[in-house]
Amino acid sequence: MNISLNINHLFFNRLLGQHCLLCASRKANQTGLCNECLRDLPWHSAAHCERCGLPANSNICGQCLSTPPYFDATRSVFSYEFPVNCMMQAYKYGDKLNLGQFFGQMLAETVSAEKLDIIMPMPMHRVRLKERGYNQALEIAKVLAKTQHKKLDYRSVERQKLTPAQASLPLKDRVKNIKGVFKVNVVENIKNKRIAIVDDVMTTGASLNELAKTLKQAGASHVECWVVARTLPKL
Ligand SMILES: [Zn+2]
Ligand SMILES: [Zn+2]
Repeated sequence: MNISLNINHLFFNRLLGQHCLLCASRKANQTGLCNECLRDLPWHSAAHCERCGLPANSNICGQCLSTPPYFDATRSVFSYEFPVNCMMQAYKYGDKLNLGQFFGQMLAETVSAEKLDIIMPMPMHRVRLKERGYNQALEIAKVLAKTQHKKLDYRSVERQKLTPAQASLPLKDRVKNIKGVFKVNVVENIKNKRIAIVDDVMTTGASLNELAKTLKQAGASHVECWVVARTLPKL
């Protein structure tokens, strides 16, 4: 059985109804899922490093101590596993835009923007934006900014180079691929600001780290990564 296709089909039929997005029950709550399906999602709840979000037994993992990333913290709602991976694929490539609302809502319940100044979605290159029609990170960030009454900034930084999608490359090539792709257009909007970058999935963190580097170089005082799902190493 093709699970992904099957789930796409379910979304298609039930997104606007009272049915749970993931099962046939009619018990969906305001999130769009029933309590049982919601409970069974792969929540990112095991002990992890506060800085990079990977599993760790201490607050900061050895990797972050020896080679600190440019971002100061990572918050993730889920680990990138079934069925969140299929939901994300349906959202990004299946035009199931309504899932942005679900992901934004889940992120808003996980993080607090109280001590931050700006919510910034991972920028998408204008050519990609034209191809896809929407920036999936922006749609999630919109929900978050609205819920948390924070300023949404998707104009001060742009993606100036069109590079192959990170997901299409081997892990080892991703840092090189993303180097120098971001450009700050309005430095005053970044300087001395505490910024949360919103993205859908964090895998190696290369894009988020490059953006955090760009923001820090423009004077940002604090940068956090807020992602819907974190890819965790296989045990
Ligand atoms: Zn359900
Ligand atoms: Zn770490």
